[in-house]
Amino acid sequence: MTESGQDKNSDVILSQDTSVDPIISSEELSLLRKTNIALESRNYELRENLRQLRLQYQASESEREQYKREIRKVKSELEQYKTPPLVIGTIESIYSSGKVVVRSTTGPQFLSKVSEHINFDEIEVGNLCALHPQSFVVVEILPDKHDAAVTAMEVEEAPQINYADIGGLDHQIKLLRESVELPLKKPELFEKVGIEPPKGVLLFGPPGTGKTLLAKAVAHETNARFIRVVGSELVQKYIGEGARLVRELFAMAREKAPSIIFIDEIDAVGSMRSAEAYSAGDHEVNRTLMQLLSELDGFNTRGNVKIIAATNRMDILDKALLRPGRFDRIVEFPLPGENERLTILKIHTKKMHLYKSVSLETVAHETDGMNGSELMAISVEAGMNAIRHNRSKVSSEDFKEAVASVKNGRGAAAAEIKDDNMFV
Ligand code: ATP
Repeated sequence: MTESGQDKNSDVILSQDTSVDPIISSEELSLLRKTNIALESRNYELRENLRQLRLQYQASESEREQYKREIRKVKSELEQYKTPPLVIGTIESIYSSGKVVVRSTTGPQFLSKVSEHINFDEIEVGNLCALHPQSFVVVEILPDKHDAAVTAMEVEEAPQINYADIGGLDHQIKLLRESVELPLKKPELFEKVGIEPPKGVLLFGPPGTGKTLLAKAVAHETNARFIRVVGSELVQKYIGEGARLVRELFAMAREKAPSIIFIDEIDAVGSMRSAEAYSAGDHEVNRTLMQLLSELDGFNTRGNVKIIAATNRMDILDKALLRPGRFDRIVEFPLPGENERLTILKIHTKKMHLYKSVSLETVAHETDGMNGSELMAISVEAGMNAIRHNRSKVSSEDFKEAVASVKNGRGAAAAEIKDDNMFV
């Protein structure tokens, strides 16, 4: 430090000494203080500005990130629009090397790799899969194609109904055994004789006369899968899908053969086509019928898939269905006569405990005009009456009441139909 500097310091120090004359005057000191305050406040202002700017910076940074994310999303969406659709195929064989042979729906076969995202052990021959359009790598295993269709169908493995469970239909049983059971069990017999077994069998008759029951019994006897589809559901529940469902139905039956396709209420699909103006619904029914006819025509009669159809309205069936080579065997299911009613009653009361005084002959006599389904209902109702009276045996009185209540129920149902018709 210079001498003069030392002097200055000592001056300042000295200046604090009140005994010495101050070097800075009080005005100067006050000015300095004011300047200091101004600087402090300016400093505070600038810091505040800096804080604000930092906040603004952070906000715009996060906005920038958001825009970046949006750009990425839009770009990937754009990429998706640019990628061609995946190719659909069916797995034909699986190799331990991690490769599979896939037949694409367009025809050619490929030896393809499987994407790492798929569990290779879960792949099965016959699986439907999606292939990358350029590399043909299997990128996805699709759900079974029958899944959606099956909802319209009731599939039963060999139903537990025997011919012995069917009463008064001996002639019908004989006809069905000949035309459905025999070709399934002994196709060689037809080959030897050189005739084609009937393609489809049509059962017709009033409701509740045992048509479904007999079709199920044939499936049981032949150990075949029973696939039941209701015609009205085909055309109402699955609008626009009827034809596809018919195709799927036959494909599934072939896959799960031996099988019996039972088309209930076939009149809903196969009613006469009118020459008058078509509505959209008529078109739908027509398309479904055309598909059904074409499936019937392309069918191998000696194969192990059989078709049984049922209707209550033979009078409105389209003649195209009844042409030779289609439903050419027609079996009538009439309302049971008195003897037949007795047989049916015996079947349904087989496991019931009846008083000796009960005469099923009398019940059969009093149930003129009733169908098998109503006779079953009478048996159940008689059993319920016994339970209501705290008995384990069923009496004639129980049967009497049951007949009356089923007859009443019939009356009520008929009245309901009549009422409904009033609004048509
Ligand atoms: P729908 O035309 O309404 O479909 P359907 O003729 O197919 O009627 P089924 O479903 O076979 O009638 O019969 C209904 C029930 O009635 C059967 O489950 C069975 O219990 C009883 N039934 C009908 N006919 C007979 C019969 N001949 N012998 C024994 N039970 C019968």
